[in-house]
Amino acid sequence: MSYNEILAIVAKVDAGLPVTREEAEAVVRSVSRACKGPIKPGKEEEYGELRRAAGNFGGGGTGYDIGLVDTLNREGCGSDFNNVIVQFPFDGAEHYTPCPKCGQEISFRSPFFNLRS
Ligand SMILES: [Zn+2]
Repeated sequence: MSYNEILAIVAKVDAGLPVTREEAEAVVRSVSRACKGPIKPGKEEEYGELRRAAGNFGGGGTGYDIGLVDTLNREGCGSDFNNVIVQFPFDGAEHYTPCPKCGQEISFRSPFFNLRS
């Protein structure tokens, strides 16, 4: 699917119009999401503190860079997390599930789409 096709679907979503399951998955997959893997042994406490200090939105505004915090304190995995997200309903609900590759517990909120039936 092309960039312009994705933008057209996003415009429909923004307008509250229904989209197909296929279109919704294309929007999800347009953002790459890789599993960051388990926290390195012995780094759990430091990671927890840094993560709390950084807040929830990428660290913007708090002076922390969550990407850097993750690179330094997590093992890395690289599994495509979009493959997990698309197995759940697009209902806006919170889910907890282990990564199929490394087993790291992942929490996420499903995107919500008005799906065409
Ligand atoms: Zn993983």
